[in-house]
Amino acid sequence: MHEFSLATNILETAIDVANSNKAKKIVEIWIEVGEFTFVNIEQLMFALEIASENTLAKGSQLRIDRIPGRILCKNCRYEGDIKETNDTSLDFLSFLTFECPKCGSNETEITSGRELLVKNIKIAT
Ligand SMILES: [Zn+2]
Repeated sequence: MHEFSLATNILETAIDVANSNKAKKIVEIWIEVGEFTFVNIEQLMFALEIASENTLAKGSQLRIDRIPGRILCKNCRYEGDIKETNDTSLDFLSFLTFECPKCGSNETEITSGRELLVKNIKIAT
C-alpha cells in the first residue's frame, strides 16, 4: 500500500525532529500533500494511526494542507490548473502528463502539486 510507506516516512521525519528536541510526545503532525500525489487521505490517516503505535506519535493529530496542482505549458506558456481528472491509478501516475487546458498540448510540466512533506510538528516535552 502506497499510503503505508508514505506514513512511515512521515513518522520517521517527525520522530527524528521530536527526538532532537527531547520531546516526550508528538501532539500534532502538520503535513503538506500536493494534489498530484493522489494520496488517499483517509488511508494515509489510517496508516499513520497504525504505524504510530508504540512511538512518540501515538495519538497525535494530523493536520493536512492540500497543495493545488499546477502545470506549465511549453507550447503556449499557460500556467495554472489542470482539467479535472478522475484517473487516480498509481501506475498511470508514473507516466503522468497533463493536457494543457488552453491549447491542448501535452508538452506540459508540473510546477506544483507533487509535494508530500512534514511542514511542522507540535511536541510536548
Ligand atoms: Zn498550452
